[in-house]
Amino acid sequence: MRKHFLEIEAVRKRYGTTVALNGATFAVEPGELFGLLGPNGAGKTTLLSIVTGLIDADEGTILLDGQRFRRADRPLRKLIGIGTQDLAVYPELTARENVIFFGKLYGLRTNELKQRADELLSAVGLHDRANDRAGTFSGGMKRRLNLAVAVVHMPKLLLLDEPTTGVDPQSRNLIFDVVHKLNRDGMTIIYTSHYMQEVQALCPRIAIMDAGKVIACDTLSQLLKLHPSSLLVKLDRVPDRFFETLRELSGVQSAALQPDGIRLTSDALGPLLPKLALACATAGVTPIAFETNESTLENVFLQLTGHALRD
Ligand code: ATP
Repeated sequence: MRKHFLEIEAVRKRYGTTVALNGATFAVEPGELFGLLGPNGAGKTTLLSIVTGLIDADEGTILLDGQRFRRADRPLRKLIGIGTQDLAVYPELTARENVIFFGKLYGLRTNELKQRADELLSAVGLHDRANDRAGTFSGGMKRRLNLAVAVVHMPKLLLLDEPTTGVDPQSRNLIFDVVHKLNRDGMTIIYTSHYMQEVQALCPRIAIMDAGKVIACDTLSQLLKLHPSSLLVKLDRVPDRFFETLRELSGVQSAALQPDGIRLTSDALGPLLPKLALACATAGVTPIAFETNESTLENVFLQLTGHALRD
């Protein structure tokens, strides 16, 4: 049987009366770029803090590379890198000094670190600011430096906690590029965010958390099937046989009569639109409007939980 790289089994954590994790369970495979998604307060940061050994769970098991992992387990902790939500870089050190400082914490030698710092600062687009103090950087530049220091020791598992919070689009794209490159080079990555679109664009497999639990964990395409795209053809009246005509159009998965028209579901709304327009024209029907409701993680979340993201 294939070994999971990380297994999180029935993990619980309380802070006083607040239940931060309520039996969270999922597994991540070697080399995955895995999304961990949930609204504010869902328990993502708490879970990452347990996986990185910052705090222990009250109950449950973490297996890393097949071995039981606890806070005290220093050798296993070296396999992990974390890009924290709160920036970990030192403002009074230069970008290069930050990378070297964190590298030394992991026991890397100064000689190898100099080259590693240059490579990493180039990768995150900070090579020309390498000798400037981090305190003079913009929010996006600090986030990029935070990412560089998280991977200085070449961890096997990288945990990224909201790595794009407060960054400009250019920095976000650079962060995405680095994440893709690290993953292509074999690093297993867990990418945590409450930005649904970001996770949808980056991660082929995703766990959705809510109120301390994993409420869904599957490939993006399977998750999106939970809420197929649909289109409402708004009509003031439905002529004879028109419902059947639309239901039988190729690409339509299901059709339902609604008080304000006909709702169609489809895997691909784009290609359906010209056929729909032709069917309307042929039947002499003029719809009031077409309203689309796309298959997105946001809508999947709404469907699963019955509430929108509380942001
Ligand atoms: P966000 O997206 O806002 O970072 P999150 O999904 O990471 O949210 P957590 O930060 O893990 O969620 O918080 C889960 C719950 O635990 C929240 O109700 C939070 O208030 C609570 N919590 C987290 N850390 C602590 C702490 N140190 N002391 C008390 N309560 C805490």
